[in-house]
Amino acid sequence: MATATFRFYAGLNDFLPRNRRQQDFEAAFAADASVKHMVEALGVPHTEVALVLVGGQPVGFSRRLQDGQRVAVYPHFMAFGLESLPRLGEAPPLPLRFIADSHLGGLARLLRMAGFDTLYRNDYADREVVELAARDGRVVLTRDRDLLKRGAVHHGCYLRATIPAAQLHEVVARYRLAGQFRPFSLCTVCNLPLRPVAREAVLERLPASVKIKPLHFTTCDACGRIYWEGSHWRRMRALLDAAETGG
Ligand SMILES: [Zn+2]
Repeated sequence: MATATFRFYAGLNDFLPRNRRQQDFEAAFAADASVKHMVEALGVPHTEVALVLVGGQPVGFSRRLQDGQRVAVYPHFMAFGLESLPRLGEAPPLPLRFIADSHLGGLARLLRMAGFDTLYRNDYADREVVELAARDGRVVLTRDRDLLKRGAVHHGCYLRATIPAAQLHEVVARYRLAGQFRPFSLCTVCNLPLRPVAREAVLERLPASVKIKPLHFTTCDACGRIYWEGSHWRRMRALLDAAETGG
């Protein structure tokens, strides 16, 4: 059987067993195995790979491997000097839109709060996530690497963190979202635009402590929720500001 020497760089090592991290290793492959097939067989979802060099030259995912070749695999955060090489795959369409898998409700809520269109339901089947992502050109957000290995997933992001605020930092860094936040422009429950509303129009639906304050109000026409700049708003605003500025 043919073998090639592989080396994965930076964060891609997280997907490898310990004895293969941060070092060259040999792996056997069947005749005609493509770069994409081997990278995923070794544990790394294709969505996390930005560049593959075979024998020092950039190649596409469909390139067939040959016996004795050396394969270097790089993530989206590049080592200095590699930034100018062509990236694998297409960039997701703009404006960026997301779909969070059924375990990422907290992250979905934060992304909506920051103004990014993010589909989410806690009962999504994997198949639905893949189909909705393909339909709208959405980026799949997940901690399930097998979901990202599906061929129909073109844009995806594996999240390492388990805490929603830290996951938001990861998404901001990966997609360079700093400067694009539109805080409190979407309903965090419905993922639909909020519109300004006069206080008088919603007065009877406000808690007594809020009624007396000269605040700015918005509402969601789908669910009727009212949003205002209270203490919760300020806490969340601080969290969003920290994520946007990398603080
Ligand atoms: Zn709503």
